[in-house]
Amino acid sequence: MSIRRRRFAAALKPFRKPLIIAIANQKGGVGKTTTAINLATAMAAIGRRVLLVDFDPQGNASTGLGIDRRDRKITSYEVLLGAAKIEDALTKTRVPGLSVIPSTIDLSGAELELIDLERRTERLKEALAEQFVIDGFEYVLIDCPPSLSLLTLNALVAARSVLVPLQCEFFALEGLSLLLRTVERVKANFNPELDIHGIVLTMFDSRNNLSAQVADDVREYMGDKVFKTVIPRNVRISEAPSHGKPALLYDYRCAGSEAYMRLASELLLRSEAPMRPRDGSGLSETAGRKTA
Ligand code: ADP
Ligand code: MG
Repeated sequence: MSIRRRRFAAALKPFRKPLIIAIANQKGGVGKTTTAINLATAMAAIGRRVLLVDFDPQGNASTGLGIDRRDRKITSYEVLLGAAKIEDALTKTRVPGLSVIPSTIDLSGAELELIDLERRTERLKEALAEQFVIDGFEYVLIDCPPSLSLLTLNALVAARSVLVPLQCEFFALEGLSLLLRTVERVKANFNPELDIHGIVLTMFDSRNNLSAQVADDVREYMGDKVFKTVIPRNVRISEAPSHGKPALLYDYRCAGSEAYMRLASELLLRSEAPMRPRDGSGLSETAGRKTA
């Protein structure tokens, strides 16, 4: 990078530090990846520059965004182990404003390899640090694997906040308290800034009494940490990944796409509200979050 560009980037830094959000829940199949893909797409559609880090060896977020396996040459695995720079792993998606760092099954080996490395919990944080200055992403979403492993720990250490997708089912609250305890432990030992950004109820089925009961319990327990927007169970959402498209590109009018647009607006309002001028209204007026 030229000195001029570096100075320019440095001057913008206070405004452009991206908000890094880990999308985590140690349970599989609760809607982490679906939320990562569709929330990132909706935020990009609203005009934010978003980076999605696929941090699950299954690579479902990469697949769902239409990144062919042959095109995943440099991935989150190389970035994590310091074998590649993050800028070399950045891959554009067909959604304007949304890039991804893809993953492959290689990432499953990283866990063992990390054990011998120094600062093994801070690898992702350090890797992410420089690139932002260059490219000015406003949001980074990390799609975590379904475990509380060293990979998830790296994501929680790198992140400013955690977004928890919660499926409205019987054991939901039990899993949630384990996750909250983990977040508290990471906060105490590694990352004092870490906060719960919010809990999003997923795969909500309005015809099912249990869904409504669980949603009520979670709201009672977690208060306004729970997003008002609820993601309904919607078949178009589950069809979209097999077409390599986010639901918003596959069918932007389906109930699932609409819900993810509302979730994105709610999240942007929550995270950008303190930065808005007092008389400012509407997301587009947000101070300091605009890209140059
Ligand atoms: P996780 O990443 O937590 O393992 P996924 O996002 O992969 O969970 O979701 C698990 C499965 O549920 C996937 O097959 C996905 O397509 C489906 N799914 C997720 N959200 C919805 C939804 N709102 N409606 C219908 N199916 C959904
Ligand atoms: Mg997943």
